[in-house]
Amino acid sequence: MSEDTTSPTRLRKAVRQKLESLARSGVTHVPAPKLLKAARVSEPVSAARAKSQPAQIGGATRQFPGAAQDLPQAPAAQIPAAGTGADSLEIIASEVAGCTLCKELADTRNRTVPGVGNPRPRLMFLGEAPGADEDRQGEPFVGRAGQLLTQMIENGMGIKRKDVFIGNILKCRPPGNRTPTPEEAANCRCFLDRQLAILKPEFICCLGAVAAQNLLASDKAIGKLRGQLHNYRGMTVVCTYHPAYLLRTPAAKKDTWADLQVLMKAMGLPLPTST
Ligand code: SF4
Repeated sequence: MSEDTTSPTRLRKAVRQKLESLARSGVTHVPAPKLLKAARVSEPVSAARAKSQPAQIGGATRQFPGAAQDLPQAPAAQIPAAGTGADSLEIIASEVAGCTLCKELADTRNRTVPGVGNPRPRLMFLGEAPGADEDRQGEPFVGRAGQLLTQMIENGMGIKRKDVFIGNILKCRPPGNRTPTPEEAANCRCFLDRQLAILKPEFICCLGAVAAQNLLASDKAIGKLRGQLHNYRGMTVVCTYHPAYLLRTPAAKKDTWADLQVLMKAMGLPLPTST
C-alpha cells in the first residue's frame, strides 16, 4: 500500500528535515510565506472537516508543532532568504555591516567588506577574507594582492575588473590575517549563498585553499583542486592560488596562468597566441 505523502506526520517530518538542513547550511531565518505555503499543503486532506470545525492535528490547533521551536532564533535584523525576490546586494551589505555573529571579528574590524563589482557578472572571483587594506577601505582585493588580481583579470584574461564581481568567504578581517575558522566560515556562508543567488555568475574562480575548500565542501589541497573544472549548484568553478601566495611564491604564477587559461577556455574567451 502506498504511503500517504500528505499526512500531517509526513509533512511535519519533511518540514523538520528541511529546517534542519537549512540550519546546517547557515540559514538562520526562514521567511513566513514559505512556512504558510507548506502549511497549506495539508489543507485538502481535511478540507471537509475544516468547514465544520477548527482544523486540529493531534488535538492541537493546526500548525507544525515542533517546527517553530526548532527554528533558530534569529535577531530581528535578519532578512528574507535568497530567492524570495525581496533580497538584494544592498540589503545583504547592510546586514553584513551590522553582523556580530563572529564576536572576535566584529569587535576588531574597521569596515565590513561585502564584495564589489558587476551585479550581473558572468564571472565571480572568490577569496578568503579581507586583509588590512580591505578592512580599512571596505573593498576586497585593494592591496598588493588586489593589484596582482587586477593584472590577472585585465592583462591575463583580457577583461575589465569592473565587469566581474569580487567577494570573499568572510566579510570581516580575521585579526592578524589568520585563517578563518570553520565556525566563522559557516557563520558567513548565508551571506555568500544569498549573494550567489542574486549574482548568478556562470563561473566562479576560487582564489586559494580557503575559498576553494569552503565553496566546494572539500578537504583536498588547493594543488589537487586547481587545474580542472568543478561544479557548484550549476556554476562552473575553477580554483587557483591566492594572489597573496603568488606574491610570496612567484614560481607558482605559471600554474595560476594555466588555471586561468582553463577558465578562459571554458568561458570561450580567446587565449593569447604564443610568440
Ligand atoms: S565574518 Fe560574516 S558572519 Fe562573521 S561577523 Fe563578519 S559578516 Fe558576520
